[in-house]
Amino acid sequence: MINCSEKYKDIALRYGLANQINRLVEECSELIQAVMKYKRITESKGLELEKLMLAKENIIEELADVCVIMEQIIYLFGCKREVEKTADLKIMRQIKRINDKTE
Ligand SMILES: [Mg+2]
Repeated sequence: MINCSEKYKDIALRYGLANQINRLVEECSELIQAVMKYKRITESKGLELEKLMLAKENIIEELADVCVIMEQIIYLFGCKREVEKTADLKIMRQIKRINDKTE
């Protein structure tokens, strides 16, 4: 099996920051649309399971797209450690809010 965990760097360097920023906007927009469609289906009368499964598959596709482009932007910005550190701080802050019941 091909290990492509570092291959996103090749893609990022091939297309460059300006193009990949545009891709990030596009992919985030597609994810929002996929999530909104899933939400509409769950809220509609007479839940259609097949439609729901397709909508979920679409969300998975778009999540993957966002993850791939996000990794590229983080790489091109050279900010992996900062993003990880900031994410950790945000998680810890939210856990504290939950435990303090201040959320
Ligand atoms: Mg997409």
